[in-house]
Amino acid sequence: MAENLRRELHDLAAQARDLLEDLGRLGLGEITLPDLPDQLPVCPPAIRGIEDGGEELCRRETLEEIRAELEDCRRCPLCQGRKAVVFGIGNPRARVVFVGEAPGREEDEKGEPFVGEAGRLLDRILLAMGLSRDEVYICNVIKCRPPGNRDPQPEEIAACEPYLKRQLAAIRPQLIVTLGKFAAQTLLRDTSPISRLRGHWREYEGIPLMPTFHPAYLLRTPTGKREVWEDMKQVMARLRAQG
Ligand code: URA
Repeated sequence: MAENLRRELHDLAAQARDLLEDLGRLGLGEITLPDLPDQLPVCPPAIRGIEDGGEELCRRETLEEIRAELEDCRRCPLCQGRKAVVFGIGNPRARVVFVGEAPGREEDEKGEPFVGEAGRLLDRILLAMGLSRDEVYICNVIKCRPPGNRDPQPEEIAACEPYLKRQLAAIRPQLIVTLGKFAAQTLLRDTSPISRLRGHWREYEGIPLMPTFHPAYLLRTPTGKREVWEDMKQVMARLRAQG
């Protein structure tokens, strides 16, 4: 539908241009016409995500455009110690996005999220859900490794969060799963403990969001796996219901 509207707008602009050219040929004034862009412009950040009756009036930013901007990011001091920016990985049209906290040592080495021990556990969770890394999208709130894997600081989250929001706006998934307290608290603007947030559907900009425990927590506290599985069963049921 959005694609139809986009094409219609482009055709209308082309017709208007032809008409103005005809008028110009008829001597009805000197008319200078700008070239038509091949694509509609990217939505400015302020109106990104705003739709008219379900139809986008401008083009959605792509993940690659966001990645290019992030490559050289110096918005916070974490840039000084990083080996790589860990942007995100997976399907740009994923139905589900998993959002973690921040890269650790192995992620920083490889430039890919969740490739360490916690990542291997996340892969097993995905497998149990009948999903693969290629089907979903995986990213973090923070794109550069905090030294010694310490907790991200509020200023670092504030500096990096806009990238996460833009990633979610570009993918527009059907569902979001947040892993651990930082992702849930950041996207929900809710400082409740993760033990209270997990297992209950919430919404992020109209997208259903399920907070659950972080896989790294499960490595330390395997008894939490039962609760995570309960949460993932809710996610699977919703995915099935949404077709
Ligand atoms: N923990 C996270 O939150 N993200 C990663 O990418 C790896 C570990």
